[in-house]
Amino acid sequence: MDCLFCKIVNKEIPATVLYEDDDVIAFEDIMPQAPHHFLVIPKRHISTLNDLTDADAPVVGKLQITAAKIAKQKGISDAGYRVAMNCNEMGGQTVYHIHMHVLGGRAMTWPPG
Ligand code: IMP
Repeated sequence: MDCLFCKIVNKEIPATVLYEDDDVIAFEDIMPQAPHHFLVIPKRHISTLNDLTDADAPVVGKLQITAAKIAKQKGISDAGYRVAMNCNEMGGQTVYHIHMHVLGGRAMTWPPG
C-alpha cells in the first residue's frame, strides 16, 4: 500500500518521532502551522474517520491520551492547545491515514478555516 504515514510507521521515510508503542506513533508535522504541531496516528492503516468501527475505540482513545501526554511534556497543556482530525476532501484531509493534529504555542482562532 502506497501510504506516506505507513512508510513513517515502517521507518521507510524519516520523521522526528516523539512517542511510539505497539499501537500508535507521534511525530512532528513537516509543515508546522503553529510553534508546536505534531501528529498522532494509529500504526494500523485506517484511511479516514469514516472507516472506523467500534473495535477501533481503544486505539482512537489512545490517540487522544497520547496527544495530551505529549502536550504536557512539551509544556503547552496549561496554556492550551488544539486537537483536530480532518476527514475527506471537504474536511481538509490530504493524507489518507487517520491522524490527530495537535497544535499549540499560539492563540487559536475559532471557527477554524
Ligand atoms: P491533513 O491535511 O489533515 O491530511 O494533514 C496532513 C498533515 O501531514 C499535514 O499537516 C502535513 O504537513 C503533514 N505531513 C505530510 N507529509 C509529512 C511527513 O512526511 N512528515 C510529517 N508530516 C507530514
